[in-house]
Amino acid sequence: MEAYTEIREAVAKLCAGFPGPYWRALDREMAYPTEFVTALTESGYLSVLVPEEYGGSGLPLSAAAAILEEVQRAGCNGGACHAQMYTMGTLLRHGSEAQKAAYLPAIAEGRLRLQAFGVTEPSSGTDTGSLKTTARREGDHYVVNGQKIWTSRAEHSDLMLLLARTTPRTEGTKRTDGLSVLLVDMREAIGNGLTIRPIRTMMNHATTEVFFDSLRVPAENLIGEEGNGFRYILSGMNAERILIAAECVGDAKWFIDRAKTYAADRSVFGRPIGANQGVQFPIAKAYANMRAAELMVREALSLYEAGTNPGAEANMAKMLAADASFEAANACIQTHGGFGFAEEYDIERKFRETRLYQVAPISTNLILAYLSEHVLGLPRSY
Ligand SMILES: Cc1cc2nc3c(=O)[nH]c(=O)nc-3n(C[C@H](O)[C@H](O)[C@H](O)COP(=O)(O)OP(=O)(O)OC[C@H]3O[C@@H](n4cnc5c(N)ncnc54)[C@H](O)[C@@H]3O)c2cc1C
Repeated sequence: MEAYTEIREAVAKLCAGFPGPYWRALDREMAYPTEFVTALTESGYLSVLVPEEYGGSGLPLSAAAAILEEVQRAGCNGGACHAQMYTMGTLLRHGSEAQKAAYLPAIAEGRLRLQAFGVTEPSSGTDTGSLKTTARREGDHYVVNGQKIWTSRAEHSDLMLLLARTTPRTEGTKRTDGLSVLLVDMREAIGNGLTIRPIRTMMNHATTEVFFDSLRVPAENLIGEEGNGFRYILSGMNAERILIAAECVGDAKWFIDRAKTYAADRSVFGRPIGANQGVQFPIAKAYANMRAAELMVREALSLYEAGTNPGAEANMAKMLAADASFEAANACIQTHGGFGFAEEYDIERKFRETRLYQVAPISTNLILAYLSEHVLGLPRSY
């Protein structure tokens, strides 16, 4: 698999322009990193997965993984814009030619942001099949009513990929049947049936609640066939999991670098704290686990690029990498003693940011449930 050395170096250089003080100031205000996202967009990094015929660079998933890993490794936060890279995949795979021609070139240029993804709801959570937001066909429109939660970047996106129920659930049908994907143009919708309310969270993530009150969406914005939406969303989830896993590997590398540097520099009892095995070993263990997770990310990427949709490897990569990044975060904060908690070291901020990936976009328990059922053949537990 290609190493993308040049891309990695260029991303690292770009990220060096956005050091700790930039992120700290945003974190305090819970503000969006507009300048950082603009720089990534203008450099073309967010459109690497868009095929060349639509104006992107048509690179494989491993290029996107390399970019996001470097962003995190530099101490930046790709969570502000990573979805701009892969949300368009649903449109690319399942949209009509007319939809692709209408949206993908503008997405590739960065003129149009498609980085809001409305699936999770307050009462359904992980159980997507029980979501309650409805889209009822009325002539040449769908009328959408309901609510989404944790719709990240909705205030910083022009379009939202929305999963809603178009056919009521009935006995004997699969719970995920009857769901459809709509591309909602939020520029027209805000104030006309769409309301966005930010949620303050543990870390700066621009996440929101979204309310639909008889929002009219043109029927031509339906992606693929009505009723098959869950399948379309699922088909993009492995790519998302692999990319988030690459971000977690980048985070783990950042924490390990910081921890080993501090352990070598900080002197207590007249010698570096890193001379103590009690300080070394947690960092060394985090390093070994990061490397193992990195191998699983590579395995998932190579299977994905060979044309399979590797559910088991994508899920394992995401789980192992999220565990490795959080283990490294914990070792790093411990190595820094009290200073680990001081804002100016950036460690507490990155610690909060990387904790998210134990829960989103899929929680560890649900990954274990997937492996139990689909790999080990155990009974479905939910
Ligand atoms: C900051 C942030 C950003 C997000 N961004 C988006 C976004 O952009 N778009 C979007 O659609 N969603 C988004 N999410 C939602 C995220 O995907 C969900 O939070 C996640 O999937 C878990 O769903 P839930 O919060 O409803 O938890 P629940 O489903 O209520 O689960 C709660 C806990 O119970 C466990 N659990 C539930 N069922 C089982 C079971 N059967 N077996 C074992 N354990 C179980 C879960 O693992 C979890 O730990 C975001 C969430 C956060 C916090």
